[in-house]
Amino acid sequence: MKRSLSALTLVITLFVLASCSSRGKVDPRNPYGLDIIDTDEEYLESVAQDPDMELIDLETYIPNIVLDIRYATANNFTGTPIYTSPRAFLRKPVAEALLEVQNELAAQNIGLKIYDAYRPYAGTLYFYEVYLDSTFVASPRTGSNHNRGFAVDLSLIDLTTGEELEMPTPFDTFTEVAAVDYPNLPENVLANRAILVNAMVSHGFTTYKDEWWHFNFAKDREKYKIVDIPFEEFSTLAQGLQSL
Ligand SMILES: [Zn+2]
Repeated sequence: MKRSLSALTLVITLFVLASCSSRGKVDPRNPYGLDIIDTDEEYLESVAQDPDMELIDLETYIPNIVLDIRYATANNFTGTPIYTSPRAFLRKPVAEALLEVQNELAAQNIGLKIYDAYRPYAGTLYFYEVYLDSTFVASPRTGSNHNRGFAVDLSLIDLTTGEELEMPTPFDTFTEVAAVDYPNLPENVLANRAILVNAMVSHGFTTYKDEWWHFNFAKDREKYKIVDIPFEEFSTLAQGLQSL
């Protein structure tokens, strides 16, 4: 009996070791085995098949847009720079809609300030390690809409002074006051939030209930795959697209 138990233990041990070693082959850049575009070739091919897939550089596409890309600085909730440069990209139809928002608001002397747009999947993996909660940080098991290039985090500025309009909380404040419908706020703050929300919604974006600064583009969202290509590569890739 004792001998057969030992034999059983040995079999179980071997089985566990075998399954551990197969898990050991997991790609650290894609540990959940998602369908990710992470090579230049795959990206260029996706754009060749559907021009909407192009990730557009907002700084060149939207005149006078202001970037405050917090994850390229230590001024973010992780306390460390995540991105290697302060850039902002969105899929073509999303960038076009955002340009319309900026044009509409300019008539009220208001401009857009971008905190975050497309986020390489590697950034989502890192965030989740730092902040093990998926209320404010997307789970890497599904990826974020930022990874798919149709989500944007932004606020409003006064075009004369360049100052941000007063909003319910600073960016990435993970409290109930950040909720898009949080009611107990001064009149001017409620009005500023309403200007942002109304302008975005009227151009095809939807709100996210827990964060006043986050918007998703509503149309065709299922067609955008997760991308994990660093910002710096897009300058080179843009040349490749011209030759398509
Ligand atoms: Zn966001």
